[in-house]
Order: sequence, then C-alpha cells, then structure tokens
Amino acid sequence: MERVECIVVGGGLAGLSAAYGLAEAGVEVMVLERGDYSGAKNVTGGRLYLKPIRGIYPELWDEAPFERPVARELVTMMAEGAHTTVEIASDRFTAGAPQSYTVLRAKLDQWLAEKVMEKGAMVVPNMKVDELLREDGRVIGIRAGEDEIGADVVVVAEGVLRLLSSAAGLATQPKARHHALGYKEVIELPPGVIEDRWHLNPGEGAAQLFMGECTKGMMGGAFLYTNRESISLGIVVGMEDMRRRRDGTESWQLLDEFKELPQIRPLVAGGTVAEYSAHAIPEGGISQVPRLAGDGYLVTGDAAGFCLNALVTVRGMDFAVAAGHLAAEAIKRAKAAGDFSAAGLASYEGSLRSSFVLRDLETARTIPSFMENPRLFTHYPRAVARLLESVYTVDERPQDGLVKKAWKSVRRDFLNVATVKDAWSARRI
Ligand SMILES: Cc1cc2nc3c(=O)[nH]c(=O)nc-3n(C[C@H](O)[C@H](O)[C@H](O)COP(=O)(O)OP(=O)(O)OC[C@H]3O[C@@H](n4cnc5c(N)ncnc54)[C@H](O)[C@@H]3O)c2cc1C
Repeated sequence: MERVECIVVGGGLAGLSAAYGLAEAGVEVMVLERGDYSGAKNVTGGRLYLKPIRGIYPELWDEAPFERPVARELVTMMAEGAHTTVEIASDRFTAGAPQSYTVLRAKLDQWLAEKVMEKGAMVVPNMKVDELLREDGRVIGIRAGEDEIGADVVVVAEGVLRLLSSAAGLATQPKARHHALGYKEVIELPPGVIEDRWHLNPGEGAAQLFMGECTKGMMGGAFLYTNRESISLGIVVGMEDMRRRRDGTESWQLLDEFKELPQIRPLVAGGTVAEYSAHAIPEGGISQVPRLAGDGYLVTGDAAGFCLNALVTVRGMDFAVAAGHLAAEAIKRAKAAGDFSAAGLASYEGSLRSSFVLRDLETARTIPSFMENPRLFTHYPRAVARLLESVYTVDERPQDGLVKKAWKSVRRDFLNVATVKDAWSARRI
C-alpha cells in the first residue's frame, strides 16, 4: 500500500488550511478532493469574517481573491405585504483592515489550493474517498476506488454530510433537525449597478439578510451578498421544518418565489444567473460536535459541525480556516513526539477549546433551540411591520400622538405571555 505521512480528505477551506500548515512545516501531505477542483463543489452564502483569522497564515490574505469588503449590513424582516429593513453602514467595518469580505468559493478555494501546492503538498482532484481504513480501531488510511493509501494520520475535512466519518463509526449520522438546506444563485450584474442599488462607494460591498415571509414561516432566512460583478442570492430553510411541511412546497421552489417578491425583483432586475448550487449546513451548534480526534485521525471544519448561525452573523469559513490550522499544529506536535494515537493528537481539542472556534460555539449553545421558535419567522417580522405601519399611517380620523400609536401596537404584539416567554429564552443567546 502506498503511504504518506498525512492524508487530508476534502479540499475545502478546512482541509486546505490544514494542508497549508502541514506542508509549510515539511510534513508530507496529500489532499484528496472529489470535485474537479477545489471550490467546484463548495457552497457558501458569501461572506468570510477575515478579522478572526487574519493572524493565521498572515502572508496569505493580502493577495486573496476576495470580492468586496462589507461596508453595509442590512437585515430585512418580511411580513405579508410589508417589510422592515434595519441598516448599518460603518467606517469601522472597512477602516484599515476590513472585518469581512464577500467571497466566491470557486475562486477562493482554487487559489488556496494553488498556495497549498506551492508549499509542497499534493492536491489531487477528482479523487473521491470511499472509505476510511481502520485496523484495531485505528484509522490507518483511505480507500478511493481500487486504491488504498496508508497514512500516519488522516484529517477528515469532508464537509457537512459526514458520510465517511459516520460510516467508520467516528461520528453519528447527521440528523435533519440539526441541519438546514441552502439554495443559491450567483447573478451577474455590472459593478456600477451593484453600487447604485446598494448605495455603495466603488469597490465596497453589502450584506443583506432576510427573515420571515421568505421562508413561509419556516426556520431559516435568505441572504444577499454583493460581489465585484455579481450578487450571491440564496435561501436557507431548516430541514426538519421542510420535512414536516405538508402543502407540497419543495425547498428549491423557495428561492424562485423569493426572487419574484416585489421587494426582491428590482434588486435582481437585468441580472443573468451564472451559477446555481444547493448544499446542507450544520446548524446543531456545539451539542452536535463529534469526537474531534482519535487514533490516527482528526475531524475538522463542517465535518466537525464548526458552523454558527447567530441570526445576524453566519460563520463557518473562518472556523474552517482556524480549525484546519489547529489540526496542522496538533499533527506537527504528534509528529515530533512520534505519537499519532488519540493521546498524541489530543492537543487539537485543547487548542480548539481555547480558540474562538469552540468558545464562540459554546457562547451560542442555546441559539439552535432558540431558532426552533416559529414565532421568530412569523409573529415578529409581522409585529415590527405593524408597529412601524401604525406610526407612519395618517388617515381621515384625528390622529393619536406618536407614543400612543406605538404603545397600542407594542401592547398588542409585544406584551403578552408568549412574547415574555420568548424574551426570557432570548436572554442567553
Ligand atoms: C448556503 C450556505 C450559506 C453559508 N453562508 C456562510 C457565510 O456567509 N459565511 C460563512 O463563514 N460560512 C457560511 N456557510 C458555511 C460555510 O460555507 C462552511 O462552514 C464552510 O464551507 C466549511 O468548510 P469545509 O472545508 O469544512 O467544508 P466544505 O467547504 O464543504 O469542503 C468539504 C470538501 O470535501 C470534499 N469531499 C467531501 N466528501 C469527499 C470524499 N468522500 N472524498 C473527497 N473529497 C470529499 C468536498 O467536495 C468539499 O470540497 C454557508 C454554508 C451554506 C451551505
């Protein structure tokens, strides 16, 4: 059997980050990617929080093929016939080193794969791993078709579905309740049109999230990120909510219907769809993180459940890069000690626990159950719209004062047993 020191299964951001750190340290590493190239099968909404990872491989980021630094943040709550948008544009988001950038994975992952190869690693596309090979409970390599390759350690960076790790008994099978489904289109528009539509200075970007009516009251939301010459528009819906729905709605239809809404149609007008993709997202939070290291293996990125939807911020890519880096660090230590057993690789979990990856997931522990509350996607977007409608409405009758108008709405929609309960459960998010 052919042998290398380290095999990385999956050439997404987590796997490539691990491979970069290992190759840089002179570890013999082979990345196996089932897609035609890194990025071919990877889907994201579109915004990478760079600030948390800028210090990791600092030489890389200045030349990364990012799209636009995000200068404007918008959240739109959609109710039937009305929507409310909260917006912040701040110099602090972009001054000096911008906090986040919109990205297109086909470009970003391919570029990172090239950087990994420049460091001396092998990145093998069109290579689907079929099985993690085990001997006496230890992972000893992989099988891809007829080929078996042995390794001191295997980094499992296969993404959200965990097909290999669950088949090998390293993790439980993913459950619908802990996942969402995302559908996305990349729609080409001229840069000037993008800047006019989102009121941007040349080169700057916007991120817009939508919740409420767009998912027909189901857990989830929609997103829109402006790229250089396109926008990434998508919708995400909880798999369990979708599974329970009995009105014949198919999840993929939601994006088509979203694009036809009167609020969205003008945003995509004149655009050409250049790319369509669909992908699952881990949304179970820290309670769904599997065992992270064992004899001969480490698990990282989405395969480890490192993804966080915290209502207004969605993170997974920065976690993937950081966790991949920490996997590489742990392997370097294990190599120095000549011990690739669970004990030799245990420092991986320790460093994740002191990093933002597991700390932020821990802070957000209650978010997944909080998001199971359907009122977030039905009652509140409607209530906010009704409150603002009431203060902006002038009719033929003598008008109440502003505060009285608002108070009537607040009393009706925000001060009742259900909303007080919701506020109580929100205190820890
Ligand atoms: C719709 C959507 C919106 C999102 N929005 C955001 C966002 O705005 N910001 C953010 O930070 N995160 C976002 N995320 C999450 C983010 O995209 C992921 O957390 C991130 O891509 C995880 O990287 P990864 O390398 O772990 O997994 P992936 O990018 O999925 O990479 C896994 C790789 O493994 C390969 N692979 C799988 N099985 C095999 C096999 N058997 N053999 C060989 N190769 C294999 C795949 O082809 C793939 O290249 C979003 C995700 C989705 C789906």
